[in-house]
Amino acid sequence: MKKFSEYKEDIYKCSRCGLCQSVCPVYRATLSECAVSKGKFNMLNGVLNGDLSFSKQLKKYLDMCTGCNACKNFCPSDIDAGKIFVAAKYDYYKTCKLSLIDKILNSYFFFKAILLLSGVFVSLYRFFCVDKLVAVFEKILLRLGKPGKMLLLLHSQVGVKIKKNDSCNKIETTKTALYFYGCFNKYINPQTQSAVKKILRNCGIKFLKKNFECCGVSYLADGNIEEFKKIANKNLSVAGNDFDYILADCASCMDTLKVYSDILDNEKAKNFSQKTVSVMDLIGEMQFVSSKKLKVAVHVPCHEEFDLAGFVKNIKNIEYIVTDDFDGCCGFSGTFSLKYPDVSEKISKSKALNYIKSGADIVLTTCPACILGLEQGFIETGISIKNRPAVMNLFVFLAQYCSQENI
Ligand code: SF4
Ligand code: SF4
Repeated sequence: MKKFSEYKEDIYKCSRCGLCQSVCPVYRATLSECAVSKGKFNMLNGVLNGDLSFSKQLKKYLDMCTGCNACKNFCPSDIDAGKIFVAAKYDYYKTCKLSLIDKILNSYFFFKAILLLSGVFVSLYRFFCVDKLVAVFEKILLRLGKPGKMLLLLHSQVGVKIKKNDSCNKIETTKTALYFYGCFNKYINPQTQSAVKKILRNCGIKFLKKNFECCGVSYLADGNIEEFKKIANKNLSVAGNDFDYILADCASCMDTLKVYSDILDNEKAKNFSQKTVSVMDLIGEMQFVSSKKLKVAVHVPCHEEFDLAGFVKNIKNIEYIVTDDFDGCCGFSGTFSLKYPDVSEKISKSKALNYIKSGADIVLTTCPACILGLEQGFIETGISIKNRPAVMNLFVFLAQYCSQENI
């Protein structure tokens, strides 16, 4: 991993053309110069020249970023702003004392406690079938402000139950995959794992369960590289050597697992990252037929490398709905939504309004955090659950509504 000081040339390459402003979701929501890469580079230039030093305020501005990479993809000077911000935040951690909020947000205990509590809530919710009550009290919950909206957000995570494999052909297993359960899918959306295994039942893959930790994406995004290395090393030792794939069912996890080789820079990490594949890599060539004629839109997660829209368009018996900004950031982005809740909600709401305008019945995506972001946006619009599109994990949709067609 390059040090912050080694990015001097990259920062100098910024011509201040301002093109990144037109694509930055945080700039569009705040109109703050500090939100966009151009503004952040001005400040970081000051640090490199010795006119400024790392401070809580500067870290606050660096954190005003969802890590969507839109500026990188659009920059005529080809600057990878995300990597520069991470390297700068790493230097901040080495030179400054952490604030209480940073300590809490950086605590793995806090992160796991939130996930476990959410998982318990969703399990109890499923057990007592509370969905009818939520539908009746939706308007009241919205009037309660943040606590009511939080309940509605958890309600949106309950999802469907996937039936066990129905027609599993006895295919000989030729490959071994370690299924990397992303935290959200492990604790809150276990139906995603069932769905993935159902879709891949005839692929000759044997799934081995390993007790992986979180991929570490929030530490990486926050520049807390020491904690990131610890968690990455734990995952490498849990994985061992006896596997053909690490299979990730979430675009953000997949992207983060691929970074292990850059940050740890050893053979084991290289092997792990090279063998990491996404579910999309395995099912991309399959042809699916939907049993329901639905109007389907797509949200492409910022870290999704596969042509998700192309794949969904190819599902038979659905109507693909083109939506404005379908590949724009959902605004959730992990701890960003905790540090900048108002900005996060504003970005999510703008996305949600596009999907409502499009007339889609359902929005499909591959990242559980994006599902939260989109649901957050729909809640912010105040439009009732029955009058807005449903948001669903693509794999759950394929397992629930589609059959595979041999081509
Ligand atoms: S698009 Fe690139 S070169 Fe232009 S202002 Fe933004 S970071 Fe600088
Ligand atoms: S990564 Fe996304 S949110 Fe961050 S500065 Fe670039 S465009 Fe803005």
